[in-house]
Amino acid sequence: MAYDDNNIFAKILKGEIPCDKVHETEHSLAFRDINPQTPVHVLVIPKGRYVSMDDFSATASDAEIADFTRAVGDVARMMDIVDNGYRILANHGEDGHQEVPHLHIHVFGGKNLGRMIKPVDK
Ligand code: 5GP
Repeated sequence: MAYDDNNIFAKILKGEIPCDKVHETEHSLAFRDINPQTPVHVLVIPKGRYVSMDDFSATASDAEIADFTRAVGDVARMMDIVDNGYRILANHGEDGHQEVPHLHIHVFGGKNLGRMIKPVDK
């Protein structure tokens, strides 16, 4: 899938639309989800043009991958959800119900999140 420079997170990165930023590093940006599913719901995105974990894991530089991984951990600590626990999740493609075609890791916390996913028909 080709990267769409007009996706909503690309526009946030370009400063064309606002976000509620919680953290920024050289290669990553984290901001609150506009429609939070849990008391803490932050999205962490790489600044580079990556659709999902598929192209990011295959083509991002080691520096970008390290920065992004550290940014996710930073966000959890900044949101004070480490001790009680949290969940990270990244959707990919149609079966994963990915809505925004720019890699983002959801960081959920602030309440008991229950089991990971609902059982679905195989
Ligand atoms: P996905 O289904 O692609 O994993 O999740 C996309 C997420 O992006 C959703 O949780 C949605 O609420 C969030 N989102 C969509 N548009 C915006 C926006 O303009 N700003 C922010 N902060 N979050 C958004």
